[in-house]
Amino acid sequence: MNLVFLGPPGAGKGTIAALAKERLDIPHISTGDLFRAAIKNETELGKQVKSILASGELVPDSVTVAMVRERFLLKDTDNGFILDGFPRTIAQADSLAEMKFIDHVVNFELGREEIVKRLSGRRMCKSTGRIYHIIYNPPKVEGIDDETNEPLIQREDDKEEAILNRLEVYDRQTAPLIEYYEKKGLLRNIDAKGAPESVLAQMLEAIGR
Ligand code: ADP
Repeated sequence: MNLVFLGPPGAGKGTIAALAKERLDIPHISTGDLFRAAIKNETELGKQVKSILASGELVPDSVTVAMVRERFLLKDTDNGFILDGFPRTIAQADSLAEMKFIDHVVNFELGREEIVKRLSGRRMCKSTGRIYHIIYNPPKVEGIDDETNEPLIQREDDKEEAILNRLEVYDRQTAPLIEYYEKKGLLRNIDAKGAPESVLAQMLEAIGR
């Protein structure tokens, strides 16, 4: 099953994708994670996008589409995938349509106030990408990853100025995709408020599982 997860930053796409990939046995492809891995490994791509990610702006479509195209060359995507954070612009969606057939676009709906609360409390394990929240989903020991015991970090783009910018970028560039996929009959709206397990259940129902 070929899935796209759409929704504002902080709506929980990554958290639900991490659960759903186990249930559906398909890979989770997060363009944000791919960019962060490139930055961490100091690749050419990483150097190119580092300051863009920190500011909360979007990486140019050509660069992002090329990275996704390359990811699709890996055979694990042949039986399905969850795309998280891609497409983020109409141009990216048009490119995706040329590469793959999409079964469902799950739209994670969440109010502004809740988004800001979630993003500002989000913490992450740098090496595994595992996500926590200081209040909603705290680690067993404050500031430490449950499995690797490494210190948790706050993403540069989860700091307040960048959050506001990301929301603006979302409204301007990504929100138009809601109508785009609605017109294609692919949109499945879900309420992203509530605990991950309940959002996961809604998501599975929305895609007929
Ligand atoms: P979020 O938590 O906002 O969903 P992600 O981890 O998906 O964040 O992405 C982080 C950053 O990576 C974005 O703010 C953007 O700079 C870059 N990025 C990720 N996906 C894309 C994309 N499809 N197009 C352009 N830039 C992207």
